[in-house]
Amino acid sequence: MFEPSSEPVIITCAITGNKTTREMNPDLPLTPKEQGIAASEAVAAGASIIHLHVRESNGAECHTLERFAEAVGEIRSRAPEAIIEVSTRAAAGEGIDYRGNCLELRTEMCSLNVGSINIGNEVFLNSPPDVRKLAARIYELGIEPELDCFDLGHLESLVELRKRGILRDPLRALLVLGINGGITADPGNLVHMVSRLPPGAHWSAVGIGRFQLTVAVQALIMGGNVRVGLEDTAYFRRGEVARSNAQLVERVVRLARELGREAATPAQARDILQLNVRRRSSAVAGPTEA
Ligand code: ZN
Repeated sequence: MFEPSSEPVIITCAITGNKTTREMNPDLPLTPKEQGIAASEAVAAGASIIHLHVRESNGAECHTLERFAEAVGEIRSRAPEAIIEVSTRAAAGEGIDYRGNCLELRTEMCSLNVGSINIGNEVFLNSPPDVRKLAARIYELGIEPELDCFDLGHLESLVELRKRGILRDPLRALLVLGINGGITADPGNLVHMVSRLPPGAHWSAVGIGRFQLTVAVQALIMGGNVRVGLEDTAYFRRGEVARSNAQLVERVVRLARELGREAATPAQARDILQLNVRRRSSAVAGPTEA
């Protein structure tokens, strides 16, 4: 029987991303210093995880270790309590080593895309060998992956990768709905995705574009966690550009409170997601891919 959740909600703020531009939102943080400020405002508003892409100063997508180091340094100095999750997404033509550069910073979390998909006119390529190789490197460095699922097939892959020991419990899935080419943000789809997760998996949901709010509210009701931020939409509501990442976080905090849930602090998020378990005990080593 359904029981309304009173668990703290872990809010991730995706402050920059790789697609949103300054033309779409003039407050998009691009430089490491701007990202540090945006992260600290988001954490003050109630976010506990900062999902991070980095950019060149002209706004172009970038995956260099140097740029990630600058941004992570700014976030660590301005919001030391934040859990930082670096993005290992692939850009066109980039190899596995380049996209995994950011892992060398050994942040607590990173994203890992478990499958390929068409996004708009592009192919977002995550080949099985690349996924296995990245997963092995992530665990080797003591980082915990958030597993990005843009479609039901990705969820099935996640279950299979867990069965083969390539992904290790506790799993933390990000369910992405409403991207052009992925699963739509129909409420029934989120219900079905959650029903396909392995037992004990943590999950967070994000709606892309105009679905950010509806997916967030549904996830709150279903007892899940929520991601918001300018990576996923430039807007606060239809026709109104968001003032900041913090503004998007603040709205989720208000809605959560009305629904009987408080925003998790970063310390609570670490406990709930068991982020320190593997770091504390190097003896807990799962099987790895040959
Ligand atoms: Zn991202």
